[in-house]
Amino acid sequence: MGVFDAVASEGHEQILYGYDKVSGLRAIIAIHSTALGPALGGTRFFPYESEESALEDVLRLSKGMTYKAAAAGLDLGGGKAVIIGDPRTDKSERLFRAYGRIVDSLQGRYITAEDVGTTTADMDTIRSETRWALGNSVALGGAGDPSPVTARGLLAATRAVAQKLWGDQDLSGRRFAVQGVGKVGSAFVRLLVEARAEVIATDAYRPALDDAVATFGVKPVDPDEIYDVACDFLSPCALGAGLNHMTIPRLACAAIVGSANNQLATDEDGDRIAKRGIVYAPDFVVNAGGLINVYDELLGYSKMRALHRVDGIFGATKAILEISKREAITPNEAAVKVAEARLKDIGDLRRFRRSGDDRS
Ligand code: NAD
Repeated sequence: MGVFDAVASEGHEQILYGYDKVSGLRAIIAIHSTALGPALGGTRFFPYESEESALEDVLRLSKGMTYKAAAAGLDLGGGKAVIIGDPRTDKSERLFRAYGRIVDSLQGRYITAEDVGTTTADMDTIRSETRWALGNSVALGGAGDPSPVTARGLLAATRAVAQKLWGDQDLSGRRFAVQGVGKVGSAFVRLLVEARAEVIATDAYRPALDDAVATFGVKPVDPDEIYDVACDFLSPCALGAGLNHMTIPRLACAAIVGSANNQLATDEDGDRIAKRGIVYAPDFVVNAGGLINVYDELLGYSKMRALHRVDGIFGATKAILEISKREAITPNEAAVKVAEARLKDIGDLRRFRRSGDDRS
């Protein structure tokens, strides 16, 4: 793929490559859209096998952020960044500060936050070079790790799905299969246990799973077995593309609600799930809690306001499922439709304001 083909293929506005020889920084920032506002999206620190796979990932993830912000009704565009490297061994103050200077050069067109492989402490380091880094520690006036808030949004979405399926949002006695008990997964398990649900869980990293067993009493299964668990809800909280032509025929759940981004490997997988009679709550609608939380930092963080908005994921999920039923389309298609309508409506309005054009 040529460099301009990469920008053009999914309608991105800009791709920026950042490099620092001394620290070994190799970063790619992708701005998909600023139609609704600044492009906000986390920085993923990951040992990509190649520069091409890093580019592919950042293009896909940044486009997803445009849809996530639009579906959540936020005045934000979509962007994302990746840093190529092993988060366990390749992090340094110099690397994050060099990266922070690159983020700063975009003067707020791109705003970063944590993602897989980066932490609140990393955001604090980036923040020493730019104010366009959110998800900062509470001591520095930030909102801290957004993961528990993302989990709260997941719970709201889960209740909306339960209401649709069984006419009751009570989750006690419901059976969950949670894939990945990292930052979001473990926070979600905590909420489920508090709601008196039964939890079966897995994680590719055995210590994380052992911890969930010891802390929450979840029943552990091997990573590959999670798709076969007979349950009410499958909750993908690991990495993307887990729902595909190989795994979907195995599913034994009534619904899918999870935090992982890009859970469907392809658009056809949304149809495959629907044909199996399983309700799929779109990932970018149900996992918007973290984004909503960091967005609030831009306004001067109010936990009450942020949580109030996150609880709105109940209504957003319900509305998407209703559109899906009414228009006989998959929930994912319904969510894309809602996001695109907002991008067009409000995106147009913002362009109109900026141009100073007063045709009306
Ligand atoms: P994390 O790295 O803390 O947790 C992910 C966990 O999944 C890890 O424990 C990892 O060992 C495990 N895992 C990876 N591959 C696996 C596999 N094949 N099977 C089982 N376990 C596997 O990340 P996180 O912050 O909890 O995020 C989880 C997902 O949710 C990611 O896709 C992320 O992009 C998405 N997300 C996170 C937030 C947030 O607020 N942190 C917000 C929105 C979306």
